[in-house]
Amino acid sequence: MSRLATTILLFGFLLFILFWRLDEPSGPLSRTRMLMGTVVEIRVDDPEPERFRDAVTAAFDEMARIERLMSLHLAKSEVSRISRAGEPVEVSAETATVLRTALKVSVASDGAFNPGLGRLIRLWGFTDGEPRVPSKMEIEEALVGIGPESLTLEDGKLFKSDRSITIDLGGVAKGYAIDRAVEMLSAAGVKHASVNAGGDLRLLGDRDGTPWRIGIQHPRKKDAVLATLSVADRAVVTSGDYERFFEQAGRRYHHILDPYTGYPAERCQEVTVVADSAALADALATAAFVLGPEKGLELLQKTEKVEGLIVAADGQVVFTSGLQEIVQWP
Ligand code: AMP
Ligand code: MG
Repeated sequence: MSRLATTILLFGFLLFILFWRLDEPSGPLSRTRMLMGTVVEIRVDDPEPERFRDAVTAAFDEMARIERLMSLHLAKSEVSRISRAGEPVEVSAETATVLRTALKVSVASDGAFNPGLGRLIRLWGFTDGEPRVPSKMEIEEALVGIGPESLTLEDGKLFKSDRSITIDLGGVAKGYAIDRAVEMLSAAGVKHASVNAGGDLRLLGDRDGTPWRIGIQHPRKKDAVLATLSVADRAVVTSGDYERFFEQAGRRYHHILDPYTGYPAERCQEVTVVADSAALADALATAAFVLGPEKGLELLQKTEKVEGLIVAADGQVVFTSGLQEIVQWP
């Protein structure tokens, strides 16, 4: 073969490799950002996901905006402002939406979920500073006037029965931020995506024609899966006693507080809720965690289009009837 022919052949081969590589479908686009005290991953599974790069950035920015609006740790947040305010205080339409979800779950759970728990949560030091076990007297003081009827929302105004009630949306706002990120991606034309904030997530569409398979963290075995769920277009949110805790005098104290006792809720290890919206799933998971396996399961069962699984304090697992269709055990 002449030298020219060899060169042409080699060149042709290189061109073939180049076009073959270009033609190969690219994998999903996955990006992470540190937000709301956890790692958030947004993954786009559409064909040519690179064209949604800006949409992913916008979705992250939206979650950061919601964190600034609804965080109890930030003095300038709207939640901090309405917590400081006295009598009926105007709230933005957006915060009102999240408060409505919180108040709905508060009523449905007989106050086990309580968005007015900010004073107690601060007292335990879960929002900032050093966590510590408060004295009995401090706890009793922080619980005064915080029943489920102490907050009402009317015409965009929040009424507090007591000026000192401090709003904490920590059990629902992360879910709302996930919902908003998914809505932004959907509005940008994304059809298949997941927004995962430290294990709390919502899925947009399915994953290339098949359901997404979501592992539920085992509450007592690190890096082990308790069960797997096959879901599409839904939110899956988990509350667990292993997520945030501190130890004092050999005892473990976690961040989900029972508004009836003022101490960490003791009836569950973990609750996972599946719902259309992550905000609702988030609030329900926290509520069911406080209520425990019997009443918690009742709450999940009676809420429409919601499924869930509860690991009781003794390790027993109970779940809603509809979960059977989507759960796989290891
Ligand atoms: P989650 O991880 O969604 O279960 O929410 C826990 C967070 O919600 C805590 O860090 C607190 O900010 C807040 N929280 C704790 N206990 C309750 C409760 N009983 N009702 C409402 N919010 C709570
Ligand atoms: Mg929650």
